[in-house]
Amino acid sequence: MALAVQFNQVVKNYEDLQALKGVSFDVEEGAFFGLLGPNGAGKSTLINAMSGLVVPTSGNIQVQGYDVIDDYRQTRRLLGLVPQELIADPFFSIKELLELQSGYFGMKGAEQKRWIGELLERLALSDKADANTNQLSGGMKRRVLIAMALVHKPKVLVLDEPTAGVDVDLRRTLWEFTKELHQQGHTIILTTHYLEEAEALCDRVAIMQKGQIKALDDTQTLLSKHPYRYLRVNVSNPKVDLIAPLAERLVEKESNGFVFQVDKTSSMTETLGLMEKSGLDVTDVSSRDATLEEVFLDLTSEGGV
Ligand code: ADP
Repeated sequence: MALAVQFNQVVKNYEDLQALKGVSFDVEEGAFFGLLGPNGAGKSTLINAMSGLVVPTSGNIQVQGYDVIDDYRQTRRLLGLVPQELIADPFFSIKELLELQSGYFGMKGAEQKRWIGELLERLALSDKADANTNQLSGGMKRRVLIAMALVHKPKVLVLDEPTAGVDVDLRRTLWEFTKELHQQGHTIILTTHYLEEAEALCDRVAIMQKGQIKALDDTQTLLSKHPYRYLRVNVSNPKVDLIAPLAERLVEKESNGFVFQVDKTSSMTETLGLMEKSGLDVTDVSSRDATLEEVFLDLTSEGGV
């Protein structure tokens, strides 16, 4: 499988702080890749280094085989970055901004017009094409950012927290559009705090913490490798005090029951026995694998790196 992006021992120091501590991994062409991690993990630094906006202290990054520093012109063309904020420009309309941006990449004529028209249409911006960017709502600005990132038809689309602060409708529109781009063969790399979204969308995820990769795998493999399963237990007497070995496994208390985290290798009979010893009157039990959020919390809270 060809590689879309390669990170090789990427280090970034900000004075005393090491924001990236030698990060190495590959993103395959055509992947829908999630870069996850708590605030301050180094995600934006890594994405900005990939886009040439941050220069690594050491190490290197290749996009489709081109070095992001030595071959900046090629990699700039191959990448489309959707940043978190749009710097509004009072002098240009949305359409003019898109025309300028695509002109910068050497696109012109009928093909350029057609593609810009299509982007405006798909992102529900057609009726705002002539509006200045400082007249737009937050959601519209987000859509303009996506249009700008896509205007030169990049092979790799990088989205930095695309749904932060976005309403449900726009979120759905954005994901439908992104999924379509992925189906058309674009490689998608995204950072998000919404782990449910990442679980549903990403075929592969990396979990970063303190400038290092803590886990990287196919999403389903990561979930199934997790050592715990989760038991939801409904009871008629939720106020009962749990005995210590059971209380240790409690992850959530609900009005009519509990959720316990249990080792996959442990005996279910033993766990049920602990419930009995606690005096719980169990009315229902269901078992499920971990969610990505649970895997994430488990990996990022265990003593850190
Ligand atoms: P994330 O995107 O995962 O929240 P960042 O990449 O923004 O993390 O930040 C990683 C670390 O680097 C943080 O500790 C942050 O404070 C620090 N950092 C990021 N940018 C700069 C900068 N320009 N100057 C100094 N420190 C920075």
